[in-house]
Amino acid sequence: MTHLLFLSWLGLGILGFQPPQAAQCGGIRVNPNGPAPAARFKSGYNGPQILYINFDGAQLKGGAFDDPHQNVSWIIGSNSLSEVDFPPFDHEPYVAAPLVTREDVIGAIVGMVRDYYAAVDVVVTTTRPPDDVPYTMIMVGGHPQTIGDPGGGEVGVAPFDCGNGNPSQIGYAFAAEFSDIEYLATTIAHEAGHSFGLAHVDMEHAIMYPMVTSDPYWGEGSVPDGKACDGSSHQNSLDVLHSNLGAQTDGSKPWVQFADPGDGATVPARIPITLRAGDARGIPLDAKIFLDGEEWGSKPWPFFTFTLVNVSSGTHTLRAQVQDRAGNIGITTITVYVDPDCTAKGTCGGGLNAIGEPCTRASQCESGVCAFTGAAGVCSEACQLDTSSCGWGARCSGGPEGTFCAAGNQVTEVLHISDEYLMSCAATGARSSAGAGLMLLGLVMAAAVILRKTGKRK
Ligand SMILES: [Zn+2]
Repeated sequence: MTHLLFLSWLGLGILGFQPPQAAQCGGIRVNPNGPAPAARFKSGYNGPQILYINFDGAQLKGGAFDDPHQNVSWIIGSNSLSEVDFPPFDHEPYVAAPLVTREDVIGAIVGMVRDYYAAVDVVVTTTRPPDDVPYTMIMVGGHPQTIGDPGGGEVGVAPFDCGNGNPSQIGYAFAAEFSDIEYLATTIAHEAGHSFGLAHVDMEHAIMYPMVTSDPYWGEGSVPDGKACDGSSHQNSLDVLHSNLGAQTDGSKPWVQFADPGDGATVPARIPITLRAGDARGIPLDAKIFLDGEEWGSKPWPFFTFTLVNVSSGTHTLRAQVQDRAGNIGITTITVYVDPDCTAKGTCGGGLNAIGEPCTRASQCESGVCAFTGAAGVCSEACQLDTSSCGWGARCSGGPEGTFCAAGNQVTEVLHISDEYLMSCAATGARSSAGAGLMLLGLVMAAAVILRKTGKRK
């Protein structure tokens, strides 16, 4: 399961600070300027902590305190830089089937971060929140040198904030140091974790392990570089997150649909299968395929592609089953007709489209919903802003009819299959709206820095 570890903790001096004489908050350096002025607190906000993952780049300014609203970062200030042109995330090195577009890659990464935080009251968004709410921003892109760090294998850095006293901070995940979505997603979650009050732990499969590891979750262990925020040498990371941010339960079932082949399709004896899947909170961690009730194989998120071979002629059922970390299961079963000669005859194809695939009418979609962003329609379903994953080719977007998986930022029209049937009877289209947008939050501050570094595999 677990393979590489290639990040290591590099300790002191990287940011040019003096290490503290006494361990403070895990023995990690605090912002030498102390806590931010009280004026920076956003009063009146009473929602969950917001984690804004910035893939778009920004003109960052150095300062004494973090102010993500103004792109002011004390880590950059501590590197004696007054301004940094932080580049947008370059998705190209991360493209791997079925992730084709920038949206696909970002969607897969954000889904994984949402999964890590699904048990915590954190809203993970890629849209910058409004000025009157606090948020922690993780900049994704570039190299450590981009912000004036010397490099040497560092892949991320963030303020270390015991108790999440300050909900408005800026951390970094240096995406140009990677090409693996799991490593990048883990690093984003790790750096955000520091800003929410987590120290490192020495458990290898833990997100807070100082080196990047595969197949991680929060875990617990002893603190290798100082003390945990409670003064002890042990940290259960999820317990700390629950205490600092609040707990959430994921009671929603993940969904899965067949992008290829669609329900009712005619297929050759060799059947390539592509699934699209999502969840209202977190993601499906894996997907299984069953042919006529028998399990064929299983794949981890987001690589839900399979190939069935030598399938006999005639009608078959294909079942896809996905499961999230909370154990919730989603199942979709379709029927396909195998004709070994359909390729030669040119009769392969047909079938319904999955969420995220193009549509002009609702009846083309397995979900029976086609949502438009201007002229572009994709098969859709209701979703929750900032917590739902819409799979590939779609994102959760708002509009007058509610929030739906769509191809762009503003849903202009939603067609339901019930409308088509009603219209064919010359009746009035019944429109439904669903999904509630979420955008909410938490509060307060202090800071130190934790670096995450690449190193030799041990
Ligand atoms: Zn770290």
